[in-house]
Amino acid sequence: MIVQKYGGTSVGTAARIRRVSRRIAKTVKSGEQVVAVVSAMGNTTDRLIALARSVNPEPPARELDMLVANGETITAPLVAMCLQGMGVPAVSLSGLQAGVQTSAHHSRARIHAIKPDRILELLREGKVAVVAGFQGVTEDLEVTTLGRGGSDTTAVALAAALKADVCEIFTDVDGIFTADPRIVKSARKLTHIRYDEMLELAAVGARVMHPRAVEIGELYGVPIHVRSSFHDGVGTMIVAKVPMEDRQRVRGIAQETNVAKITVVGVADRPGVAAAIFEPLGKAGISVDVIVQNIGRSGRTDLTFSVAESDLKAAEKLVKAAAKTVGATRVASAGGIAKLSIVGTGMLGMPGIAGRMFRALADAGINIEMISTSEIRITCLVARDQVDKGVRVLHKTFELDRD
Ligand code: ADP
Ligand code: ASP
Ligand code: MG
Repeated sequence: MIVQKYGGTSVGTAARIRRVSRRIAKTVKSGEQVVAVVSAMGNTTDRLIALARSVNPEPPARELDMLVANGETITAPLVAMCLQGMGVPAVSLSGLQAGVQTSAHHSRARIHAIKPDRILELLREGKVAVVAGFQGVTEDLEVTTLGRGGSDTTAVALAAALKADVCEIFTDVDGIFTADPRIVKSARKLTHIRYDEMLELAAVGARVMHPRAVEIGELYGVPIHVRSSFHDGVGTMIVAKVPMEDRQRVRGIAQETNVAKITVVGVADRPGVAAAIFEPLGKAGISVDVIVQNIGRSGRTDLTFSVAESDLKAAEKLVKAAAKTVGATRVASAGGIAKLSIVGTGMLGMPGIAGRMFRALADAGINIEMISTSEIRITCLVARDQVDKGVRVLHKTFELDRD
């Protein structure tokens, strides 16, 4: 049994839907049971969000989910009817019909469980199940969506629930590269990548895979094959272990441009201040990323942190209110920032990697505003207009274009 996921570009036009359907038909003819998960056509999701904002600048989350889930709801029946026209029995299913149960967090719901009875029944009848990705329902049957890029997560979660042999992610590039191939022309396609490395890359902006899809893949041991929907070539396998010779200190570079920073100036250097500032953000569902607090001087300190630029307005409002209660001097904020990260399990315990990264950026005249690290990642915040250059510089510095 195979779960195949087709992304937005891959189903962007009627001709592409026919091409995708031919590929599904071919897989069925080779004797496999196929569950296809599909995204909204092209930039449909962006267009629906823009449409919502044009009638209400701050669309209520529930109604926005009711709206944007329709992108996927359109693609699934188109693929199913295309398959039927080719003589391949197929039935489209919404998230609800496919049994995708989620939390109630609109626009960033998490999959709690999948009840795949209906899909299994279709497969037993020799039919292809074509599932609308990205969407699910709460216990109360409220429609939710899984966050941008969430169709990947629908596919991997279904593969886990169905114990499929593999989850194939068909997209508009040939696999996972050492950096976004649209930015670095000499980026190299990886034959394998570990779940933990892919998760870090995805979490810091490599949008080729939705982070939670990778997380679920690792948790349930689902082999994920990321490949092109435009030709038959093999792509990249996301797996638990990579062959020894594939180990490299830095595996990949990622960038994320939707970043802003907030600085709370002159807060008292005493217990409870950080909690007072970050708790309201957490309650509002706003993720805080890199946090830097300076060593206090004469009882006062500054606190700077980054948030998604799309959350900046809401975050600023909450931080300003909290800053008043802790007696801060003022709150400053700025957008136009980007995150630049290097990732690789081979970096563990390798001295000198950070120094090389910072030196390369310095030599390229790129100023580092903030730094954060994990065991297998180093992230620098830099000016957004310099991030592409930074990606190219680091790709070269760590010799990622070489085999
Ligand atoms: P889909 O609609 O198929 O889900 P996405 O646009 O979500 O496709 O993801 C594919 C895109 O991810 C590619 O077009 C590429 O520009 C981008 N990308 C970013 N980093 C990488 C990387 N390391 N390897 C491959 N693609 C990447
Ligand atoms: N259509 C959704 C988006 O554009 C989900 C997806 O494509 O994975 O984010
Ligand atoms: Mg995607």
